[in-house]
Amino acid sequence: MELKERVLENRLTLNGSEKNAKVFLRIDPFTEFPSYISEERARRKMFVLRTQVQYEKNCDFCNPYFNTPEPRKHHEGGAVSVPNYFPWSMGQFVTIYPPFKENGNDAPVLHRLFPSELEQKDLTSMIEALWDLANYSYFLGAEAYLFFTNWGPLAGASRQHPHSQFTMLDYVSPLSLLKIEVDLARRYYLNTGKNIYDEYVRMEEENGARRIFSNENVYIGAPFAPKFSDEILIISKKPVSSILELEVREDRLSVMQPAWGIFPFLYFYRSVMNFNMVFHNAPISEIKNSSIHPSKYYRMHIHIYPRKNGLPVDIAGAELGALCSVPSKLPEETAHYARLWYSSPYPSEEYLPKKQVIIEGKPTEVVDEELLDQFRMCMRAMPQRKFYHVDDNTE
Ligand SMILES: [Zn+2]
Ligand SMILES: [Zn+2]
Repeated sequence: MELKERVLENRLTLNGSEKNAKVFLRIDPFTEFPSYISEERARRKMFVLRTQVQYEKNCDFCNPYFNTPEPRKHHEGGAVSVPNYFPWSMGQFVTIYPPFKENGNDAPVLHRLFPSELEQKDLTSMIEALWDLANYSYFLGAEAYLFFTNWGPLAGASRQHPHSQFTMLDYVSPLSLLKIEVDLARRYYLNTGKNIYDEYVRMEEENGARRIFSNENVYIGAPFAPKFSDEILIISKKPVSSILELEVREDRLSVMQPAWGIFPFLYFYRSVMNFNMVFHNAPISEIKNSSIHPSKYYRMHIHIYPRKNGLPVDIAGAELGALCSVPSKLPEETAHYARLWYSSPYPSEEYLPKKQVIIEGKPTEVVDEELLDQFRMCMRAMPQRKFYHVDDNTE
């Protein structure tokens, strides 16, 4: 397997001064979509810095037993899935995570607002909901399904209450992303006899530059050719193509739980307030119809796509018109800071991003006191954090 990269050099002059702009053109090995990584773009002036978030006064999801449609599915871990009241396709569920309001109690529910507040048990709820709903789709004979979490308004979430969505997919277009991944992986297997995901993980572990954390169950890294800055890729090292093959609860949790550190890392070190998290599982039709079981060539995996805080829209002409992506951060840099987070039981305040203010007419970087307070509060919940701290995972 070959990771394809070309370094493009742009010579520009402005008022007689020359600048050399470097762009890394990389091809995603799983889809062959191009990614133009241009660190120059990070230097553009941005107008929106941090999204303001606040508790909704009357959040429907705080009291799902009154406010959401039936029938409901209850999952291990406490989450509840209800049919989507505003569906865009057949077989759609919204999975809502606790805490919930008790019946008749009017006190506000302090649910999570920031990615850093996602708890370990939320990830249990997430993976157990996926397990239940994937089995339900299989039972109903759906072609494929997609499970995702949208966090924050710039990621398309209409509610700040933590929730995920599950949708059964009509699986006909050869240009659906899942289909592109599966077809490419099958072709790679037929040509080489190897699983492209396993190959990728082996090479990335050996190289080390983009690896964040890995053990015998899961690989977590910054992808070689990301779509978005600070993107994360989580690949199951258990030899399964979908959650349906992880019949033992402990196995499901062992793939999911190490991802927990990613959310506070993204928030505190990378200022990520908005993200999409997408679970890719081999389509049910592939499991039923392919002459080779997809576990031979495909792997269950998760994409985390941070959405830009600096612009209201981060998918524009290039992305829509050419299906290429233009992130402004190298994955090697993302992985470097993520390893700092993962490798220490007490992540350091030193890497918190500074806030820009104007002092005497000059833009000046100062400590973001609000962020620092949140960080210290999160660190005080330390005993919980031990779960994903690993001593051997240092730089
Ligand atoms: Zn709520
Ligand atoms: Zn994928």
